[in-house]
Amino acid sequence: MLNQNKPTSPPNLMRELNKALVLNVIREERLISRADIAKRTRLSRSTISIIVNELLETEFIRERGVGKSRGGRRPILLEFNPRAGFVVGLDMGATHLLTVVADLGATRLITLEESFSVEAGPDSGLSQATQMVETALERVGIERRRVFGVGVAVPGPVDYAAGMVVSPPIMPGWDRVPIRDQLQEALNLPVYLDNDANLGALGEHAYGVGKHVSNLAYVKVATGIGCGLIIDGRIYHGQRGSAGEIGHLTIDENGPPCRCGNFGCLESMASAEAIAQRAEAAVRAGQKTCLSQYQRRLTVTDVAQAALKGDALSRQLFEEAGRHIGVALAGLINLFNPGLIVIGGGLAEVGDLLFDPVQRTVDVRAMAGAVADTRIVPSQLGRETIAIGAVALVLRQIFRSPVAALAEGN
Ligand SMILES: [Zn+2]
Repeated sequence: MLNQNKPTSPPNLMRELNKALVLNVIREERLISRADIAKRTRLSRSTISIIVNELLETEFIRERGVGKSRGGRRPILLEFNPRAGFVVGLDMGATHLLTVVADLGATRLITLEESFSVEAGPDSGLSQATQMVETALERVGIERRRVFGVGVAVPGPVDYAAGMVVSPPIMPGWDRVPIRDQLQEALNLPVYLDNDANLGALGEHAYGVGKHVSNLAYVKVATGIGCGLIIDGRIYHGQRGSAGEIGHLTIDENGPPCRCGNFGCLESMASAEAIAQRAEAAVRAGQKTCLSQYQRRLTVTDVAQAALKGDALSRQLFEEAGRHIGVALAGLINLFNPGLIVIGGGLAEVGDLLFDPVQRTVDVRAMAGAVADTRIVPSQLGRETIAIGAVALVLRQIFRSPVAALAEGN
């Protein structure tokens, strides 16, 4: 712990374990005396004293005021110091990069966003990402040694152990490129890589609308459609990292071709791109809609704006997309019985136009027993959800117990 680059060797394990225990107790309790730490951890007062001194020296904790006396001297209280270190969260989307720098309490110091093209390939993509992280760190002006790691979200299936994407449908040229290792070398910082929807789920679970919900799904509806699953408080990766590919669930066996090579996938019928394409086809077919005024390629934003102004065709397109998403979510609910489904990504911003048909379809199609406890809500953290999830990923690594680190072999 706190030294996540080096594996903890068994002789130091007990000490590291006790240190992690004490620090995590202080983080949880917010304000606690040495005597109460001893009670909570059942460690000896002398062990606590040594560990607390070490933690004070490295500034992970600080002394703050005094507590109530229980007969003797009033005890000095200790608190966790979130500014002892910083982490970076980077959300690499198909068309944007978003970077946040946060302290150890996940409070954001800066958020940067710029346009990006994942299709330009890994060479230019990774150098743009590196540059952006460097810029963010420079702007907040923190010492390099206080930066503990960078969490990176990518829009494809991730082999978490290998730190790379495997056969990603929307990342041409990135297949099996060692993204984690390359960024680690370029930034000279520990890097952790995961799928964007997985980190969206972790972000909402750790700091958003899914706090205290241990089973939840985060569905990102944007250029593509992805889903991250938190099961019993942990990201569920599946055998090879491709769990949650809800976008490639077949909705219509005879539906339109999908970029994955299949037909009638949810993504080919309800993603931002699918909605824009359907709108264009309707305009070409001469259907009555205010979208026919545009003399350029339509985007889903055009369709959303028209729908919000009452354009019947545009509303119909969102209604259909919502129904398709609802069919997929009903399946997800039947399989996993999540307590919460959070919908994020650009499409979630149209609100009820999408959520109403989603909810109606789910109510009809999911098993009554499974759906009873499942709320479907918009993301609370908005555009930053995935980057905050990337921050949470690094924080979990930093504060995990050394035993977990040993068990995971890194
Ligand atoms: Zn597909």
